[in-house]
Amino acid sequence: MTIDAHKGNGIAAANGSGLLDPAVFQERLDRLAEVAVRVGLGLSRGQELVMTAPLDALPLARRITGHAYKAGASLVTTLFTDEEATLMRFHHAPDESFDRAAEWLQNGIAAAYRSGAARLGIAGTNPALLAREDPGKVARANLALSKASRPALDLITRHEINWTIVACATPAWARQVFPNDDEQTAVARLWTAIFAVTRVDSSDAVQNWRNHDAQLQKRAQFLNERRFSALHFRGPGTDLRVGLADDHLWLGGGTTARNGIPCIPNMPTEEVFTTPHKDRVNGVVASSKPLSYQGTLIEDIRVRFEGGRIVEASAATGEAILRRMVETDEGARRLGEVALVPHSSPISKSGLLFWNTLFDENAASHIALGQAYSTCLRDSDTLDASQLAAKGANSSLIHVDWMIGSGRMDVDGIHADGSSEPLMRLGEWVE
Ligand code: ZN
Ligand code: ZN
Repeated sequence: MTIDAHKGNGIAAANGSGLLDPAVFQERLDRLAEVAVRVGLGLSRGQELVMTAPLDALPLARRITGHAYKAGASLVTTLFTDEEATLMRFHHAPDESFDRAAEWLQNGIAAAYRSGAARLGIAGTNPALLAREDPGKVARANLALSKASRPALDLITRHEINWTIVACATPAWARQVFPNDDEQTAVARLWTAIFAVTRVDSSDAVQNWRNHDAQLQKRAQFLNERRFSALHFRGPGTDLRVGLADDHLWLGGGTTARNGIPCIPNMPTEEVFTTPHKDRVNGVVASSKPLSYQGTLIEDIRVRFEGGRIVEASAATGEAILRRMVETDEGARRLGEVALVPHSSPISKSGLLFWNTLFDENAASHIALGQAYSTCLRDSDTLDASQLAAKGANSSLIHVDWMIGSGRMDVDGIHADGSSEPLMRLGEWVE
């Protein structure tokens, strides 16, 4: 799962219908907004909504605002971000700027959540926005933002409130996904892909989502009944044993937030996921897709774990960013999530690399460095931080998913007595 909606750009959204009939485009855009509000958020009557969106996602943000008020929202507040302004900071701001974040704003967002507001993030930023900026400044700015947003992030990862993330095709992102097309075509193709993988192509999208959600819940239930103590991944460059946290819980599809509202936090979602044991991960693992990390690209990651810690890390590109990422804090070099996704998922079948975790993590089995989701532990609401850690749940300022699955990955479930059971062969569920 991703908690990050920091991706996006999108005025061409308004006319990004080069491959789609304009009326069909508007209909699907509206359906995406409706599904996001009704199924993704499950927004309840009288609830406030805080939305974050790239400036270019204005047309989608407005559709969502409309559906939110129709669903009874008491107030919708949207915080837009401008990528050009971000670049101006990197090009012109004094050095001390990179240790600052708008703490007052992040505290305000956390206060809104505490008073009952739901959260909707629109993803769609340029995945390579900061690729040519100073990695040191990028890392410092990310760290400052991570620290400032920690209170809000805690409420999200603990599912105190209902929240969801959806995506908007934006010009810079579309150009990255379809580098050989002109901008208008690229945006139209990206929209077509987003509509397909977020399952809003057909008129009964709300029912489709309920069915898909039920399938994922069933898969999670199967894994919960098995009570594996570890998973063993084998594939090109990978021979990794991931111990699972004591009392771990597999989740997939929707969750009922602690405010009692059922929501689906990521749209699309194809994964079932749980909490690994932070001290019981051993072996080597290679990424199977590039990772887009806060405006930079990290490709061909190879790491070695010993006793849960990364002891060696390299990457063909973005290695400096990778190293700084794992040095964020002690938890940043340990796992906080392991997720299984079949190679035949619609996103994988699209054959596209989206350069965006919301999509790419749902194309392949993956692991995440950093913060664990405490909701992936039984009775987690009765446990304090030290009890969560004792069960193996990791803690960190970061949570970064990266893809390790492919059509060549085998996964076994390992029981406490050491016996194993095939779960996936060549990237597909066995049964
Ligand atoms: Zn995940
Ligand atoms: Zn994740």
